[in-house]
Amino acid sequence: INEEFDAIVIGAGMSGNAAAYTMASDGLKVLQLERGEYPGSKNVQGAIMYANMLEKIIPDFRDDAPLERHLVEQRLWVMDETSHTGIHYRSEDFNEVSPNRYTIIRAQFDKWFSRRVRQAGATLLCETTVTELVRDDKGKVIGVRTDRAGGAIYADVVVLAEGVCGLLGTRGGLRKMLTPEAVALAVKEMHFLPEEVIEQRFGVKGSEGCVIEAVGTISHDMAGLGFLYTNKESISLGIGCLVSDFTAKMESPYALLDALKNHPSIRPLIAGSEVKEYAAHLIPEGGYKAIPQLFGDGWVVVGDAAQLNNAIHREGSNLAMTSGRIAAEAIIQVKRRNDPMTKRNLALYKTMLDESFVVKDLRKYKDMPALLHNNAGNFFTTYPRLMSQAAQNFMRVDGTPKIEKERATTAAFIKARSRLGLVRDAIRLALAWR
Ligand code: FAD
Repeated sequence: INEEFDAIVIGAGMSGNAAAYTMASDGLKVLQLERGEYPGSKNVQGAIMYANMLEKIIPDFRDDAPLERHLVEQRLWVMDETSHTGIHYRSEDFNEVSPNRYTIIRAQFDKWFSRRVRQAGATLLCETTVTELVRDDKGKVIGVRTDRAGGAIYADVVVLAEGVCGLLGTRGGLRKMLTPEAVALAVKEMHFLPEEVIEQRFGVKGSEGCVIEAVGTISHDMAGLGFLYTNKESISLGIGCLVSDFTAKMESPYALLDALKNHPSIRPLIAGSEVKEYAAHLIPEGGYKAIPQLFGDGWVVVGDAAQLNNAIHREGSNLAMTSGRIAAEAIIQVKRRNDPMTKRNLALYKTMLDESFVVKDLRKYKDMPALLHNNAGNFFTTYPRLMSQAAQNFMRVDGTPKIEKERATTAAFIKARSRLGLVRDAIRLALAWR
C-alpha cells in the first residue's frame, strides 16, 4: 500500500472497531489491519455486551446487530462441592424498549461491527499480521510493517488495539511483558440446546436471557470465576483463573471446566446439550496497577492491550469500546487543530480516559486483584464452604434448637478463621472495595 493514512488501527476486535468507526465517521482516512481470516475469528468473550457503550458509538445498532438475548436475570452464586448459595436479581424493568445488556456471539458480532466500520469509510485488510512498528529517527511511531509483501505503511498515528497479549507494544518497547499474576486464562464451551429447552430451564421467554456467575470451590483454591450465559440456542459455559495460579497449583483449565460441568447445580442446566465449540483466551486481570503507558509519539493503546478490564464486575468489552472511542475522539481533536500526533498532544486521550468510568472504576478496585490473589484459599474455598454449611444448618429442620444452630455456625466461622482473622478479612475486603 503506497497511500498514507491518518490512522492505522491494529486489530478488529471491540476496541479496534470502536476506534476505527469513530475516526472513519469523522472523515479520517483509516486503515485497519486484522490478522484473523475475518473480524471475530480470533476473538473470545463470554459474552455479555453492554449496550450503553455501543450506543455511544453506533446509536442505531439494535437495527441490525446480531444480538442473542437481553438479560433480565443475573444470578451470583457462591459454590461449594455440592451446593450453591446465591443472590438472584430479576426485574421486569430490564424488559425495556432499549435493553441494557445482551448476550452475543463474538464471531458474528465482530463481523457485523466490522461491516459498519467499513460502511463508515475505513479500509480493512484481514489475514494481515502487523509484525513491527516503524519509527522515525526520533523514535516517533510513523507506521507499521506487516507479514504481507511490500514495505511499510505510514500513518500520522497508530492505534494499538491488538488484544491482551499486546506483543507488538511489548516488542516495540512501549510496555513491559505481561506477568502471569496479571492475566487469567479462561476456557469456555458452547452447549447447544433447543430454544424452548433454554427458556424452560432458565424461566425466560422470547429474547429474555439469564446469566449465572459463580465463585467458590470450583476454582480449586485459586482466584477465579465460572460463568454460564444463555444465548438463543446455546449456552456459553466457562471458567477462568490466574495463569500464575494454574502454574503454581499444576491445575489444568479443562479439568476445572469438566468439574464445573459435572457440578450438581450446573449439570441439569446443560443436560442433553451438544458441544460444538471450544475456546481458550487470556483476560487482563491486573486492574488499575497493570495499566501501562497509554500514549506516546505517534501511538495510543486501547482495550485489552491497555489491560483495561474490570475483573470484579466482569466487564471488558465495554471498557474496550469506550477506550477505543475516546482514543479516536482525542485523535480527531488533535487533527482538527492541525497539531502533530506527538506524545504531548496525544496525552489528551489519557486525560479524557481518566475522566471516564473506565479509569474511575479500575482505580476504585485497585487493591482487589492483589487481595483476592493473595487470599484465594480463604475467599474462594473456606468462606464458600462456611456459607454453604451455614445456609444448610439454617434450612435443615432436625429438632436442634435454633440457638444451638446459630452457635454452631458462629463457632464454625471462628474455628476456620479465628475472631481476629474474620475481622481482618472483613476490613481488608471493605478497604479494597471502597
Ligand atoms: P480483542 O477482542 O482480543 O481484539 C484484538 C484483535 O487484534 C483480534 O481480532 C486479533 O486477531 C487482532 N490482532 C492481534 N495482534 C495482531 C497483529 N499483530 N496484527 C493484526 N491484528 C492483530 N467482556 C465483557 O464485556 N463481557 C463478557 O461477558 C466477557 N466475557 C469474557 C469471557 C472470556 C472467556 C474472555 C476471554 C473475555 C471476556 N470478556 C468479556 C473480555 C472481552 O472479551 C475483552 O475485553 C474484549 O474482547 C477486548 O477487546 P479488544 O478489541 O481490546 O481485544
